[in-house]
Amino acid sequence: MPASAVDLQREKPFEDEVLALVQQNGAESWSPQEILTWGIKNFHPRITLSASFGAAEGMVLLDMMHRIEPESRVFVLDTGRLPQAVYDLIDRVRGRYGKAVEVVMPEAERVEAMVREHGMNLFYESLERRQLCCQVRKVEPLRRHLKDFDAYVTGLRRDQNVTRSDTPKLQLDANHGGLVKLNPIADWSHEDVWSYVRDHNVPVNRLHREGYPSVGCAPCTRAVQPGDDPRSGRWWWENAETRECGLHVDEEDQGSGI
Ligand code: SF4
Repeated sequence: MPASAVDLQREKPFEDEVLALVQQNGAESWSPQEILTWGIKNFHPRITLSASFGAAEGMVLLDMMHRIEPESRVFVLDTGRLPQAVYDLIDRVRGRYGKAVEVVMPEAERVEAMVREHGMNLFYESLERRQLCCQVRKVEPLRRHLKDFDAYVTGLRRDQNVTRSDTPKLQLDANHGGLVKLNPIADWSHEDVWSYVRDHNVPVNRLHREGYPSVGCAPCTRAVQPGDDPRSGRWWWENAETRECGLHVDEEDQGSGI
């Protein structure tokens, strides 16, 4: 779908200048702070950070956004299957930044119906069941939450996964009503992220010290050995091409290996 067609679906279209910059990918040479400053100037308070509290990328962006705008917003999808370390970090962030983290949960009725039909650990049974669980616990709550925003920020990086190698720094998100999606550290390396964490004493998930490069739902995340692909600890029983939860891929391609 062309970007202009996406934007035309919105009740309140973006200003021409904003739309042109996104469509022309005009922020590729900008620093993360420049992109975030642009996003906050144009969209705050209808811009939010999507952070898992299980990856250093989101915490770096939270720190950057807070320095630019102390009232900047952040949300986390609480799937109901997260490890305690994620909840501990959410409360550390509340204490450190005084930030009201917006916790978004799935609809109880949908979760109840799913586990009644397929069991508590359906994700291990097949790719389809795993995607159903991610759909109910992540994709639908994300869609519901983003309806209240014009833009959101992610910590996607191009070298994280084969499915993320083309990530632009700015894009229109057709899956969520054409809102602007900012990926300010798309061209950062793993080392860039951790340098920022060290230099700014950014709070991160304690499980990183125990071999978890990223922390997702407890039953779908495990530690990896030094030197292994950082994402090999997520949905390790699947092919690398399917290891996405559906949050950042086109709907028709969820889990099919774009
Ligand atoms: S990561 Fe696992 S537990 Fe979490 S929503 Fe996806 S399938 Fe379900």
